Amino acid sequence: MRQSVLFPKTRKDAPKDAESINHQLLVRGGFIDQLMSGSWTLMPLGFRVVTKINQIIREEMNAIGGQEMLMPVLHPKSIWEETGRWEKAKEIMYQFKMKDKEYGLAFTHEEVVMDLLRKNIKSYQDLPIYVYHFSTKFRDEARARSGILRGREFMMKDLYSAHVSESDLMDYYNKVKDAYSKIFKRIGFDFRVTEASGGVFTDKHTHEFQVMADGGEDFIYYCDNCDWGENKEIFAGKEGEKCPKCKNGKVKGAKSIEVGNIFPLGTWFAERMRVYYADDKGLKKPVWFGSYGIGPTRVMGTLVEVGHDEKGIIWPKAVAPYEVHLVELSGAKNAKKIYEELTQKGIEVLWDDREVGAGEKFADADLIGIPSRLVVSERNGDKIEWKERTSEKTELLSLDEIISKLES
Ligand code: ATP
Ligand code: MG
Repeated sequence: MRQSVLFPKTRKDAPKDAESINHQLLVRGGFIDQLMSGSWTLMPLGFRVVTKINQIIREEMNAIGGQEMLMPVLHPKSIWEETGRWEKAKEIMYQFKMKDKEYGLAFTHEEVVMDLLRKNIKSYQDLPIYVYHFSTKFRDEARARSGILRGREFMMKDLYSAHVSESDLMDYYNKVKDAYSKIFKRIGFDFRVTEASGGVFTDKHTHEFQVMADGGEDFIYYCDNCDWGENKEIFAGKEGEKCPKCKNGKVKGAKSIEVGNIFPLGTWFAERMRVYYADDKGLKKPVWFGSYGIGPTRVMGTLVEVGHDEKGIIWPKAVAPYEVHLVELSGAKNAKKIYEELTQKGIEVLWDDREVGAGEKFADADLIGIPSRLVVSERNGDKIEWKERTSEKTELLSLDEIISKLES
C-alpha cells in the first residue's frame, strides 16, 4: 500500500475530548474516526487490524467445531418478550416504534439462536450445535468515554452452543475457555481468566478474560507467579496475601479490561422459548445452552492501551496492519523495486512514498506502530536500514537478508 494514497492522513494532535490513550493514538494514526459518542468508523488501517483479530478468532472457533453464519441485528419486540428481556434490558437496548410495529436493536443474540433451534431441532441426534457470527451489537452505554473500548455500536464475535445435557454443555464450555486462551495468547495479551457473576444473563458464575491495563475500568486480583485471577466483586482476600492456587506467588491487584466473557446458561432460555428435543426414549427435554463473546474492536483498543510509548502505537506482529513500513527518503532509487519484491513474497508493506521530510516520515512510522521499519536512502545505497519498533538499534542489511529475517 502506498502511503501517499492511504486514507486518511495522520494527525499531529489528538481530538480535545480524547481522554483515553486508545482514542488519542488510534485517531491520530488514522485507524478510527468518531461519528458521535460511542460510534466509530474503522478506517482502512483500523479495519485491517480488526480483520486480523477476527481471523485469529475465526480459526480458533472453527477448530472447536464452530460454524460461522450471520444473524440480523433488527429484532421484533415479540421474540424478546418471550424471555422477559424486553422489559429487563430497557436501559441498555435500543427500542423503537416504526409504523406501529416495535423493534429492538441486538445487544446480544440468545433469543434469535433459540428461535433457530426450535425451528430446526427434533431429537438428540440433532445436537450438539455450535454456531457463531461476527456482527454489530448496539448498547446504550451510560458512559461511552473509553474510546473504542466502549462503543454504543460495536463489533462482537458471539458463539452459541446447544446440548443434550449439562455435562455435555460444561465439556464444551471448557473447550471454549481453552480456545479463548489460545486466541488471547496469539494476540499477545497478558491476561487472566477470572470468575464473575453473570449480569443480565444468568445467576451462575461465568468466566471473564481480563487484560491487565492501566486504562481499564475493571479491577482484578491475580497471582504474580501462576495463572490464578479473580474479579474484585468476588474475591474476599487482599493484596500481598499468598496465592490461593499455587501457594507460592503473591496476590496483586490491577486495573483491567474485559475482552471476552463466556456464559453457561443452562436451560433458562429453552424453558422460556420452548426449545425441546426428544431423548433416546422419546421423552421431551429442554436444550442446554451456552453463549460466548469477544469484542474485536475492544481488543484493538486494548492492544493500544497496553502497547504504546510516547511516540505512538506498538502493534504485535500477529495483528499489525502491515508487517513492514518501508520508508523512502528523498534521493533513494530502489524503493519501488524493494516494495514490489517484498509484496511478491507475500509480505505486507506500507510504503511511505510521500514527498515529505524524513522527520515527519519517522514520526509517522512510530505513531502508526508497524513492527519493522525499513529505510531506503541515497546514503544507504543498495543496503536497507532495518529497525524494529520496540528497539533503537538499526542494522544495514541486503534485501535477501531482510526477506529471510521477515520469513523466519
Ligand atoms: P462490560 O462489563 O465491559 O460492559 P459486558 O460484560 O457487558 O461488558 P458482554 O455482554 O460480556 O459485555 O460482551 C462480550 C464482549 O463484548 C465483552 O467481553 C467485550 O469484549 C465486548 N463488549 C461488550 N460491551 C462492549 C462495548 N460497549 N464496546 C465494545 N466492546 C464491548
Ligand atoms: Mg461481560
